[in-house]
Amino acid sequence: MAKTIKIVLDPGHGKNSGAGIIKGFYEGSNNFEAVQYLKEELEKYKDVQIVVTRTAITDDPSLAERGEMGRDADLFFSWHSNAWKKEIAHGVSSFSSVRRDGRALCDAISAAVVAAFKECGVGSCYYRGYSQKKWDDSLPTVDYYGVLRSSTLLNPTKAVQGKTPEDSACKQSIIIEHGFHSNLEECKALNDPEKLKKIVQAEAAVIAKYYGLKEKDPEPGPAPDNYYYFAVLSANKNKLYAEEDVAKAKKLGFEDAYVKYAKRDGAL
Ligand SMILES: [Zn+2]
Repeated sequence: MAKTIKIVLDPGHGKNSGAGIIKGFYEGSNNFEAVQYLKEELEKYKDVQIVVTRTAITDDPSLAERGEMGRDADLFFSWHSNAWKKEIAHGVSSFSSVRRDGRALCDAISAAVVAAFKECGVGSCYYRGYSQKKWDDSLPTVDYYGVLRSSTLLNPTKAVQGKTPEDSACKQSIIIEHGFHSNLEECKALNDPEKLKKIVQAEAAVIAKYYGLKEKDPEPGPAPDNYYYFAVLSANKNKLYAEEDVAKAKKLGFEDAYVKYAKRDGAL
């Protein structure tokens, strides 16, 4: 059996936090909605365990608590949209922990997100780039961003005080800023559930490919009208042989097996 990939999805902030340029849009609520869709998409694949840091929209754990949930994950993915004081800033940005090389995954997710924004009518969307941000020059192996720091380190609080950083088992820890909610065009796309789903589906496909996830087998539905699945043991010209087959079936536990005498029709 394939190894189960554990992905921790972190919808940033809390409910109604981070007002967007569109009235009624809040980053914290939108991040929650996006991660719900992303979880659904990723659960279409086999051998994957999806954990979310907020199970209710009103949940708002601390950055440390969020990161801690990702310490044994293959991927900790913090989902955000960006903001700036002027509407002109726009585009997608990505970050990984300074302790992990996340460039390949971040670039691939971001490219898919940019393409999806464009498909959703935001033609100007572009990739602002990938970066890592250290705590400071004296602590280059400690992350500046709280969720990245507490997912990749077992002792984030002591590490920022200069103690030797202790690595967690988290294999990859990233933040993606899905456009700017302070930009009208990008906020419009994020605010439209169908467009948000498109963006999320695009990144789910990238994550699935990156981890080599295989789609679950489709649930078999009922047969169309007048069609049935017949469980037939045998058809015999001689009654004795039919009775022998029934006896064998009963021995195997099929107590209800019986011989039926009928004209062979098209279905059998
Ligand atoms: Zn944010």
